[in-house]
Amino acid sequence: EFPWSSLLKLHLSQTFGIRSFRPMQREIMCASLSGHDVFVLMPTGGGKSLCYQLPAVIGEGVTVVVSPLVSLIQDQVAHLEGNRVPASHLSGPYDQEHYRQTMSMARSGELKVLFITPEKIASSGALLGLLNDLRDRNMLDRFVVDEAHCVSSWGHDFRKDYIRLRCFKEMYPTVPIMALTATATARVSHDIRQQLRIPKCLVFKSSFNRPNLRYEVRKKSPKTVIDDITSLLGERFTGNDGRIQSGIIYCLSKKECEDVAGKLSRLKQRNGRKLSIRHYHAGQNHQEREETQLMWSNNEIQVIVATIAFGMGIDKPDVRFVIHYSLPKSLEGYLQESGRAGRDGRKSWCILYYNYGDSRRITFLLETGAKENNVTKEQQEHNRTALDAMRCYAEEQVQCRRVLLLNYFGEKFTKDKCRGTCDLCENNQGKSFHEKDMTEQAKS
Ligand code: ADP
Ligand code: MG
Ligand code: ZN
Repeated sequence: EFPWSSLLKLHLSQTFGIRSFRPMQREIMCASLSGHDVFVLMPTGGGKSLCYQLPAVIGEGVTVVVSPLVSLIQDQVAHLEGNRVPASHLSGPYDQEHYRQTMSMARSGELKVLFITPEKIASSGALLGLLNDLRDRNMLDRFVVDEAHCVSSWGHDFRKDYIRLRCFKEMYPTVPIMALTATATARVSHDIRQQLRIPKCLVFKSSFNRPNLRYEVRKKSPKTVIDDITSLLGERFTGNDGRIQSGIIYCLSKKECEDVAGKLSRLKQRNGRKLSIRHYHAGQNHQEREETQLMWSNNEIQVIVATIAFGMGIDKPDVRFVIHYSLPKSLEGYLQESGRAGRDGRKSWCILYYNYGDSRRITFLLETGAKENNVTKEQQEHNRTALDAMRCYAEEQVQCRRVLLLNYFGEKFTKDKCRGTCDLCENNQGKSFHEKDMTEQAKS
């Protein structure tokens, strides 16, 4: 059925040291190797990279991968080189020597994977020359568009240069495309296929449920919220070594980040040491942000307090908690941000602090933003609907959080599969409402 199965299996273990495929990985790879255009929707940490890396190793020619950030590309190249897969990149500023070497290795087919940033498509005539040349010699195996939601203005991270990627199908109609994203909305995924000119591609969508994540909404009272976080850090999120575990606290504004980080930095851990915590936002210069991210990745900083500027390409496996100090603007955003917890599959927490004032504040920000930036009526309506859904998630008192989250993205998911891993299911598990009422009364 799958002509590539044995070859894939061989390289899976020999090249990548991985024993078995995750759901759908093999099917995706076989479809791409058969020349189909494919569209992959898989949650963060699901294992999308392997879906193109392994076919790239097997192919005779070059796989060209578009990725939005230089730092993401560097991680990928390092990972591939670590597995002895010839890979390089044309992204950001580079020196002549690197450029010459990459071009010549690509031309000779020595390179298996070539990473580029989307702006190179426009700015580098030499790159198009290379692509033409590879195509003419049947050496252009496939185009990969990673973080493909960047092509859609309905997504949460639209990037203008991604629009240029339509040229792949227009200029090289015979070269298969693989687009990958962790976006779960129907609207964005439809848009991606239109923009990339692959409306008839094969679509692979896996479940976005993350069984190891615990969902919880906590009431945000401005007076006590910092104390509440402090005790969470000091108890639930302190490991056996007395050290607070790795986590992210998302805030709405730069000022809020600095405030929260400042207040929590006084915290002493059970091992007697001060907590190592820093803020991260777009107001800092590039170098400062990079340093913070790197130190956090190396566990020198335990907790990062950030705006959503801190996001894409974080693949730290052992993030034990993602706390939202303020309400996100959409469930799309919440799914992405909270999804950075627990990539290693271990139990991790997604906690949202909510009060009605925050949702008013965001409505106000959206309205002023719309006036200042000439946002279309349609987009404004979209923003309002997105915020409403987020608010429903936060205000829910009976249903399961997972059900709310996943049903919003069109996934059929039922309460029984949550198994008490969200606050609402946990509260209702084994207790009848009557019993619950009694305990509430007893407390008051
Ligand atoms: P994403 O879908 O977010 O791009 P990645 O491709 O970065 O996810 O993969 C997340 C992690 O899962 C990586 O550490 C990767 O090595 C690992 N991984 C991918 N596929 C498998 C597999 N079949 N078995 C075990 N680990 C895997
Ligand atoms: Mg990825
Ligand atoms: Zn639940």
